Amino acid sequence: MSEGATKKEEKPRKFQAIRGTRDLLPPETALWNRVEQTTHEVFASYGFGEIRPPIFEPTELFVRAVGGETDIVSKEMFILAEQHEDRDVLALSHLRDALTLMAVSADHKPSVDFFLEKSAEFCDGYQAALKKGVVYADERGGIKIEYVKEARQHLVDTIAQDRFEGWRDRFDETVRLCIQYMGLITLEQGNALRPEATASVCRAYIEHNMQQLPQPVKLYYMGPMFRRERPQKGRYRQFHQIGAEILGGPDAPAIGAELIEMLMTFFAKLELEGTTLDINSIGHAADNCRRGYVAKLKAELEKVKDKLGADSQRRIETNPLRVLDSKLEHEQAIIATLPKIADYICDDCKTHYAAVKRELDLRGVKYQENWRLVRGLDYYMRTTFEITARGLGSQNAVCGGGRYDGLVELLGGPPTKGIGFAIGEDRLILSLQEAGKGAAPQSRDVYIAWMGQNAYATAIRAAKTLRAAGFSVELPPTELKFGKALERASKLGSRFALILGDNEVTSGEWTLKNLANAEQQKLNEQALLEYLRKA
Ligand code: ATP
Ligand code: MG
Repeated sequence: MSEGATKKEEKPRKFQAIRGTRDLLPPETALWNRVEQTTHEVFASYGFGEIRPPIFEPTELFVRAVGGETDIVSKEMFILAEQHEDRDVLALSHLRDALTLMAVSADHKPSVDFFLEKSAEFCDGYQAALKKGVVYADERGGIKIEYVKEARQHLVDTIAQDRFEGWRDRFDETVRLCIQYMGLITLEQGNALRPEATASVCRAYIEHNMQQLPQPVKLYYMGPMFRRERPQKGRYRQFHQIGAEILGGPDAPAIGAELIEMLMTFFAKLELEGTTLDINSIGHAADNCRRGYVAKLKAELEKVKDKLGADSQRRIETNPLRVLDSKLEHEQAIIATLPKIADYICDDCKTHYAAVKRELDLRGVKYQENWRLVRGLDYYMRTTFEITARGLGSQNAVCGGGRYDGLVELLGGPPTKGIGFAIGEDRLILSLQEAGKGAAPQSRDVYIAWMGQNAYATAIRAAKTLRAAGFSVELPPTELKFGKALERASKLGSRFALILGDNEVTSGEWTLKNLANAEQQKLNEQALLEYLRKA
C-alpha cells in the first residue's frame, strides 16, 4: 500500500467529553441562567455577597476541612500531579527514593553507616521543611516522622549491641520498616480540584482577615466541583454547587433559621416542587453530648453487627454515626431500634435545637425532624439539614447543610462560628426539567427578510435599532428569496418577519408579518418599534 493510501484511511481522532463531565447546551443553559440569576437576587436580598474562590487549592486544605477519612478525600479527589517547586523538598524526595531502592534490592544493601547518615539527613530535612512551611504541616505527618525516628533509633540500638548473631537481618528488617514509614510521609504539597467550596470560603475568610469586618460575614458562591465518583443520573464528576456560608458573630438560632428560610424562598421562587426539609441536631463533640451518644451507639451496633452489611460493619469502627444514613433496605428495621441522638445531647444543645425549631415556625418554614440525619466530622455541630426534591430517583438530595463552628479554627483562624449549605445545581435543574419547567428552545422576536442591496443597508440599520431596543433579531447574512427567508424564520421560531424590499425602502413603510397568524401590516420605523413593544 502506498503512503498516500494509508494516510487517507487514518481518520483524525474524534474527541468526547470525559466520563462524568458533560456539555451544557442551549436551550438548557437558559434554565441554568435563570437559576443563577434567581440566586443572585434572592441571596442579595438576604444580605449575602458573592465570593469566587479558585477552582484548585492545596490538597491539604481539603484533607483537613473535609476529613482524610471521608470518601470525598480518600477516594474521589482529583489531585493534580506536579513537580515540587521547592528544591529542598525535591532533594528530600530523591533521598527517600534512593533509600527505598536500596532497601528493596538484594544486591545493594546499604552500608550501616550510610543508611544511618542518610536517614538522619531525611529526618532533619523533613523537619526543616515543615518549619519552612513547604510540606504539609499536618499532625499526621508529624506522627509519621516520629515513627521514622523511632525506627532509626532502633537501628542505632541494634548495632550498639555489638553486632550479635543475626544482627544484619534484624537491621535490614528495621530498615524496611523505617523506609515504609518514610513512604507514608507526604512530601508533595500538591494541588487538587475542589470537591466542595466551604473549605475555600473559610480559607479566604482567614486570609483576608474578614473577622475584622462587621460580623457575621455572609457569602455565597456558585461553580463547578469535582469528585471522582461513579457517574449516573444526578451524579457527575464535574458537577455544580450553589452554596452560602455565614461566618463569625454569634450562633443565635435565628441565624440558621433565616439561612434555611432563604433556601426555601429560593426554591419556591424557582417553583421547585415536592421539596422536603429534614432537620436534626447532632449536638457537639463532648463526652456529655455527642461523644457519649456515639459510644452508646457503637455498643448497640456491636450487638447487632452480624445482621449488618459489610459497609456498616466497617463503619462501626471508623464512623458509627454514618451507619445511620445507610440506604440498605434490610438494615432499616435494625436502625430504627437504635438509640436516638436527641435523647443524649447536652442541655445547651437541646435548648439551641428547640430554639431553631421555634425560629423556623416563626418564619412559616415547614420541616420534618429526622434523627438519622448526621455528619461524620467532629467540627459539625448542632443544626444539620437536608432538602430533597422530586423526580430524582435515589439521588434526591438537592441540598445539604449544617453548623460547623470549629472549622475556621481547624484551618488556622480564630475561633469562629459558621453555618452553611450547598445546593446540587445539576440535581435542582433535573428536578425542574422533570416537572416540565425546562427552558423552551430559544426563539427570535424578529427575522429580517431582505432583498436587494438598498434593502440590505436598511436591514442592517433596522437590526441594530431593534436589538438596541431589546429584541432578539436574526439578520440573514446573504440574500434569500422572500419565500425561503420566511421558511427559515418559521424554523427558528421567530414571532415576526420584517420584510424589506425596494418598495418598503422607498416608501419608508415596512411590512411586518405575524408568523403565528400570517397577518401583515405596514408600519414606519417608529410605529414598528411601538407596535413590537406592545406585542
Ligand atoms: P450524596 O449523598 O448524594 O452523595 P453528598 O453528601 O456527597 O451527597 P454534599 O457533599 O453535602 O453531598 O453536597 C451537597 C449537594 O451537592 C448534594 O446534596 C447533591 O445535591 C450535590 N452533589 C454531591 N455530589 C454530587 C455529584 N457527584 N454530582 C451531582 N451533584 C452532587
Ligand atoms: Mg457523595
